[in-house]
Amino acid sequence: MTATIIDGKARALRLRETVAAGVAAFVAAHGRAPGLTVVLVGEDPASAVYVRSKGLATAAAGMVSGEHRLPVTTSEAELLALVAALNADATVDGILVQLPLPRHIDTDRVIAAIDPAKDVDGFHPVNAGRLATGLDALVPCTPSGCLMMIEEALGDISGREALVIGRSNIVGKPMAALLTARSATVTLAHSRTRDLAGHVARAEIVVAAVGIPDLVKGAWVRPGACVIDVGMNRVALADGKSKLVGDVEYAAASERAGWITPVPGGVGPMTIACLLANTLKAARMRAA
Ligand code: NAD
Repeated sequence: MTATIIDGKARALRLRETVAAGVAAFVAAHGRAPGLTVVLVGEDPASAVYVRSKGLATAAAGMVSGEHRLPVTTSEAELLALVAALNADATVDGILVQLPLPRHIDTDRVIAAIDPAKDVDGFHPVNAGRLATGLDALVPCTPSGCLMMIEEALGDISGREALVIGRSNIVGKPMAALLTARSATVTLAHSRTRDLAGHVARAEIVVAAVGIPDLVKGAWVRPGACVIDVGMNRVALADGKSKLVGDVEYAAASERAGWITPVPGGVGPMTIACLLANTLKAARMRAA
């Protein structure tokens, strides 16, 4: 079997068009555009690239894009004061504090300070709890995008065997919650899991979110499975250049899977599109 490649770029473009139409309707109804403000502390080059592309995508969708770039020396109290000001700003519907934060700042405290109604990353404990208990929530962007791609490939996933590899709060755990809410039979694997190969071999849906290049071997993949590769790992090449690879042995897995996401061009573009969708959702919720 040769897998169908899930084109995350094309799917994200469609979602961005839907969001832009929703934004236009919001502007017509409320006389203002939804606003997303991104806060970046420090000079991490990868974070700076993400923040820039989030800002461009926000503006392209017709929303108001705000940005605060703070020096790495910013104290936790200063950052909390900025978050409080954004919470109180009626023109701001979504607040995103780019992670990772410098080590002298308590990330959990900052996330908990964001108004849950403006928490477009879906990381606030209130949103995590709402997702876990089946209530409507602002859901983390990466797993939201993964679920859309899975359902487009497979349709109804009720009763399907799903394996999520990685149990982070931003990808693995919310992914498992979303799949559970869709009535899949979910296994959550992590660094202490024994026999990862055996779990992969049983899974009709595999979501790999670990950060280890080629951790999931192609030969493990169940024939016909839907494989979603969240991993983004930069590996050095012999010629001194580097390239981005996922957590799945892509070429070998493509020979067995039914559907597979490439890296890059799979999950990544969907994450930003889902951030825009969350911002529109937050604006609608606040306006209601
Ligand atoms: P994390 O480091 O917070 O979590 C990694 C998880 O992998 C942990 O729960 C750990 O238990 C598990 N793990 C480690 N070794 C393992 C092993 N040998 N077997 C099974 N599980 C193991 O990472 P994260 O923030 O969840 O990100 C995971 C990957 O996804 C990274 O490569 C990251 O860059 C990427 N990512 C991509 C996007 C995107 O938009 N494409 C978004 C977020 C994260």
